[in-house]
Amino acid sequence: KKTDNQMLVIFGASGDLTARKLIPGLFNLHLAGHLPKNFVVLGASRSDMSDEDFRDRVVYKSPYLKDKIKDAPESKVKAFADVLYYEDLGKDYDTDYAPLRKRVEALKDKHDTSGNIIYYLSTPPTLYETVAKNLADAEMNTQNHGWKRLIVEKPFGYSLETAQNLNKGLHRFFEEHQIYRIDHYLGKETVQNLLVTRFSNSIFEPLWNRNYIHHVEITNAESVGVEKRGGYYDKSGALRDMFQNHLLQLVSLVVMEPPIGDDAEEIRNEKVKALKSLRVMKDEQTLYDNTIRAQYVASEINGNKVKGYREEDGVDPDSTTETYAAIKFYVDNWRWHGTPFYVRTAKRMPTKVTEIVIHFKEPHHQIFQESGMHRDNKLVIRIQPDEGILIKFGVKVPGQGFKVERANMDFYYSSLAETYVMEAYERLLLDAMQGDATLYARADEVEAAWEFVDPILNYWKSGKDVRMYGYAAGVWGPENADDLIDGNGIWRNPGEN
Ligand code: NAP
Repeated sequence: KKTDNQMLVIFGASGDLTARKLIPGLFNLHLAGHLPKNFVVLGASRSDMSDEDFRDRVVYKSPYLKDKIKDAPESKVKAFADVLYYEDLGKDYDTDYAPLRKRVEALKDKHDTSGNIIYYLSTPPTLYETVAKNLADAEMNTQNHGWKRLIVEKPFGYSLETAQNLNKGLHRFFEEHQIYRIDHYLGKETVQNLLVTRFSNSIFEPLWNRNYIHHVEITNAESVGVEKRGGYYDKSGALRDMFQNHLLQLVSLVVMEPPIGDDAEEIRNEKVKALKSLRVMKDEQTLYDNTIRAQYVASEINGNKVKGYREEDGVDPDSTTETYAAIKFYVDNWRWHGTPFYVRTAKRMPTKVTEIVIHFKEPHHQIFQESGMHRDNKLVIRIQPDEGILIKFGVKVPGQGFKVERANMDFYYSSLAETYVMEAYERLLLDAMQGDATLYARADEVEAAWEFVDPILNYWKSGKDVRMYGYAAGVWGPENADDLIDGNGIWRNPGEN
């Protein structure tokens, strides 16, 4: 695909994300020759920095680029750093952007970037609309002399209402086709591979429905606690931080119907339809029966004491924010009617893993009764780490009789080592630079996800009979979560079963 000459203006450029993900992603694109010939990055935030200070911060003295710089030719590093600039916005993001516009125009002329601009909002979310408004006031959103795009970071709201307000606010100044909502999960190779697994193999798609799939399970586990993000996390929680965005994105890719092509709108139309078909839980009994929340408590890992969630810095000692969430739900459409979905996400788990497990139904007529092969055909799609695909199936144990044992057929992405696998941010930045929004979330997609999540959050907030369990660090969450999946076997705890 063609990458036009362009400029990337990063708001909040003094922040963590810019140094940790955006600049390293761009540097990789530079080394791989993917950046356009004429390209400029202009960092903007309130901090007082010169261009040189900014280059030192995000390139020459950056801990995130240290190793990469060591391995790259000096001239290449310099060529990259030389197109990074910085503009101080003054005391407030809510200000006249005329000086910023002047700088943008001067850099455009100097580097001949032709008026195509991406504005990357890497500030706290409270500033997204403010920045968009001030860009519009300074007429920096007009598409007269080159396209303008806006990349927005998560979170996309804290509830359905705030998400709708954010979308409305942004739509006042930018059209939907100009807005790129980034969900870095979609930049992961194995997430995209879900589409290929389903729609490029005739062996899976015919089975991909209620007739052959017994249930679907998705686990996202982190071994760490909230670390230094206690203050932020306490206002968010597992459901907002992981489930509403990343995990429902995975759900939509598992649930969706085949799109008619690989066009961004076609794929996203199907994802929206999938999210709209999730059965929203309305009454308290359903919410009580199908949702589990929990917090990690003080415990030990390998003999070392670790704090409970409520003792973490920045966390309210009476906090009711969940660090574990498990949800059971159904999908109301032709393909999935009656097939339960189980999705859980948590911190302080035994290991770090994200995987999707498709549990196939048992054969209708069992002839090898003694086999113990109860519902053992599984397709495991590992999103991280060790990205890959595992198929579990039964084989005959050599010898007399028909004893059946489980065998694994395992594919690791790393075995394609010859191919360079782009980091999520790298891939997504390049897509936005090329105007490909396939892997970005559309406004209606975000709102459809919130429509499903909102009642759960409201129910949990209501406190009415809502249980909050505790679990020790290093276990797979509260035992009560086993009841949720009861009757459908047990959770697949990676590494154990
Ligand atoms: P950050 O370091 O907290 O903030 C970025 C910059 O915003 C700061 O350097 C600061 O620059 C400016 N800022 C303006 N008003 C601020 C305020 N009231 N409090 C704090 N900073 C303020 O954020 P980040 O980690 O780079 O993340 C940027 C955005 O990406 C956020 O919306 C975040 O939710 C999202 N995000 C981040 C990550 C990540 O890995 N870091 C992952 C996913 C999403 P000045 O003071 O110089 O103006």
